[in-house]
Amino acid sequence: MFDTILVANRGEIAVRVMRTARAMGLRCVAVYSEADAGALHVEMADAAVCLGGASPAESYLRSDRIIAAALETGAGAIHPGYGFLSENPDFVRDVEAAGLVFVGPDERAIRAMGLKDAAKRLMDEAGVPVVPGYMGEDQDPGHLEVEAAKVGYPVLIKAVAGGGGKGMRLVERPEDFVDALERAKAEARGAFGNDAVLIEKYIQRPRHIEVQVFGDGTRAVHLFERDCSLQRRHQKVIEEAPAPGMTAAMRAAMGAAAVRAAEAIGYRGAGTVEFIVDSADGMREDGFWFMEMNTRLQVEHPVTEEICGVDLVQWQLRVAAGEPLPCTQEDLTITGHAFEARLYAEDVPAGFLPATGRLAELAFPEGVRAETGVRKGDVISPHYDPMIAKLVVHGPSRAVALRRLAAGLKATRVAGTVTNLAFLGALAEHEGFARGAVDTGLIGRDLDTLVQPPAVTPGHWAEAALAALRLLEAEGWQTGFALWGALRRQVVLAQGEEQHAIWVTVQGPGEVVVEVDGDTVACRRGAAGWTFDGRPGGGVFVGDGTVTVFAGYGIPFEVVDPLAQVGEAAAAGATLAPMPGRVVSVHVYKGQAVSAGDRLAVLEAMKMEHTLTAAADGVVAEVMVREGDQLEAGAVLVMLKALAEA
Ligand code: ADP
Repeated sequence: MFDTILVANRGEIAVRVMRTARAMGLRCVAVYSEADAGALHVEMADAAVCLGGASPAESYLRSDRIIAAALETGAGAIHPGYGFLSENPDFVRDVEAAGLVFVGPDERAIRAMGLKDAAKRLMDEAGVPVVPGYMGEDQDPGHLEVEAAKVGYPVLIKAVAGGGGKGMRLVERPEDFVDALERAKAEARGAFGNDAVLIEKYIQRPRHIEVQVFGDGTRAVHLFERDCSLQRRHQKVIEEAPAPGMTAAMRAAMGAAAVRAAEAIGYRGAGTVEFIVDSADGMREDGFWFMEMNTRLQVEHPVTEEICGVDLVQWQLRVAAGEPLPCTQEDLTITGHAFEARLYAEDVPAGFLPATGRLAELAFPEGVRAETGVRKGDVISPHYDPMIAKLVVHGPSRAVALRRLAAGLKATRVAGTVTNLAFLGALAEHEGFARGAVDTGLIGRDLDTLVQPPAVTPGHWAEAALAALRLLEAEGWQTGFALWGALRRQVVLAQGEEQHAIWVTVQGPGEVVVEVDGDTVACRRGAAGWTFDGRPGGGVFVGDGTVTVFAGYGIPFEVVDPLAQVGEAAAAGATLAPMPGRVVSVHVYKGQAVSAGDRLAVLEAMKMEHTLTAAADGVVAEVMVREGDQLEAGAVLVMLKALAEA
């Protein structure tokens, strides 16, 4: 069949696929964008082909170049990973027309599931329960409004071409319908070039439970369910398998429905049938409804691999090579419980804004399956999804697996960018989650307690101060002591909103006193390392102008150069990009008078639109960006002059 595969993706999934392909004796070809020239997936491959510029449109979405690369390098098959071209039926058609094997379903199956409305109609016919709603072709706003009333409020408007929660709007009252419809359509047009929508009954306390299926084009089996109810704004945060509280009867009913769905479209390869379950109703055999089918390998596939003891990528490659289904339904059983947490470079307290940065430190503890496409020293760039890794754990029971997740998150070390590690840790220790009382609203309801800033003690400030002055290393304090005598030095550190000038006095070898904001901390170096007021330190990472103390989930400190702060005044009046993103629209022109709160521009980052508004009344002095510009965090979009100066 084929002895070489090309992986048409990047990051962790490219690495994941190549790991299995390599173990099966296959040669691997990577493709990459100019921004990814030094990436792990490129380093891992036997051959690599550059596709073009950093933006996906210039690289990972260039199907023509990818197919040419496969032909040039002698690859016989293309694995698409997830995202990018993985669910693009035209790509599948072109791959097959070039005489190559597409590792996934055929063009027809992807098309059948590509649009949510057609998919729902098809599933309805196949006897799979679907969410009640309107999925017709008549897109007249007046008609849709009538249909929404028939469905009964609250309703959910969904883009038929939707994905990743985009083009989706909850409407609670009839008077909000028209406005919500307009906004859903606009978002869908921008994202998918298709503004058709469907209307669904909004389930009040929904759980997202999906079934992993696997087919050979004729027959299919299911590999049980995953619960992906821990979501923030429709984006999955922690997934698990099996679903807490699942009954044998409901599992059998959902599995059978998923297999029916897959066989109805002659499904080949790995796929996921997503259902919504009303948690207010408990686990009932008639209480689940089809939402959509993802015709590819899913991000969260590892939790299924962990409980079933299978390698889904290996199955994909074997079936793509013409082998029949690797096993029967009876061969498949569940062992234990698994969790996956998605570690992201994002600024949680700032509202989960995507972040960028060089990973000065990146280390995962033993016992955790860390799926990652980056290494220590790599950069999380604004061009792609800022996921750093998926942390996967398995245990004999849910309670044990959850404890392993909590411990694994605590022992993960990341420095150089802000991350959602503490947020994931808070979730892993959430009382309701521990009980298995999950629904998609859990995170939203408890957001304030989940997004607590780290508890920073004077001991942490002291450890950071010693690290910043290089006094933690043996040579540091020895020379320090020898050179300075009983010396006293100051260092200015910032952590979150707080900033302190800290005095550090070296009193003897391995004996330092630190004064922080009125507190005094005695620091001592013993046989087992440093202690701060008797408590052992957490360990540190010293970066360029930063110190991370690994207590809790890592506390980032900035080493402040007091002189550099002077320049900040100049930035007053500037509206800055709070995160890396793309300018969707600019709403003001030079010379225009604006009032506080007026919309200046809209920035899109990580599938979300963020409106930037005027901080105060004033006049637009300069518009620095245009629609379509790709910005780094901190870039200036608009300069305002206060009214008095104007
Ligand atoms: P997308 O393809 O954009 O990800 P989905 O249809 O998969 O959209 O839905 C994403 C999430 O939105 C689901 O996981 C669920 O949390 C929520 N959701 C979808 N449909 C409904 C519904 N009818 N009622 C309540 N929540 C829903």
